[in-house]
Amino acid sequence: MARYTEAVCRLCRREGQKLFLKGDRCYTQKCAMECRPYPPGMHGQGRSKTSEYGLQKREKQKARRYYGVLESQFRKYFEMASKRQGQTGENLLSILESRLDNTVYRLGFAMSRAEARQLVGHGHFTVNGKKVNIPSFLVKPGMVISLKESSRSLEKIKANVEANAFRQPPKWLEYDANNMVAKVVALPTKEDIDLPIEEHLIVELYSK
Ligand code: SF4
Repeated sequence: MARYTEAVCRLCRREGQKLFLKGDRCYTQKCAMECRPYPPGMHGQGRSKTSEYGLQKREKQKARRYYGVLESQFRKYFEMASKRQGQTGENLLSILESRLDNTVYRLGFAMSRAEARQLVGHGHFTVNGKKVNIPSFLVKPGMVISLKESSRSLEKIKANVEANAFRQPPKWLEYDANNMVAKVVALPTKEDIDLPIEEHLIVELYSK
């Protein structure tokens, strides 16, 4: 499956916002948004007027990039969201937030969603006691996510857990830090998502 393989900092510069795609580096002065906070390319520093369509498209790209989701998958999520009860935009955010890789990131096992995707892909987590290595797996209320016993001694995971110890898990997850087990107690809502995404622009884009 095609995946973005170029320098991810370009994505932040394109969106004009930190997307926190590189873990530790994002919190240092080495972050490209600290030293080059303008779009990449030779016209990056020129003035540009953005159309309504352009704004909607940028918002969709931003959401996709936060969660590391391909266009086709993102469209599927939108269709799923539009079939659920309630507001489509908020449903879409809830679905994105429910991905297993995002859940692992929210629990502090990884420094970025990209790293969380890799950890899930390598089979370090179980859901309801069974290994799940699909980053896009959607967790649901009642499910129990756990770091595998054999993965608890991995230096990288231990370092991440220590570095993220100050982070509070979102309230849709009930986390037992001693046993490294989390229970999904609700579907995530817009209030649980601390990302600056204007989901109504995405709905407008796909509703054309
Ligand atoms: Fe974005 Fe992180 Fe790169 Fe900064 S260091 S530009 S936040 S990916």
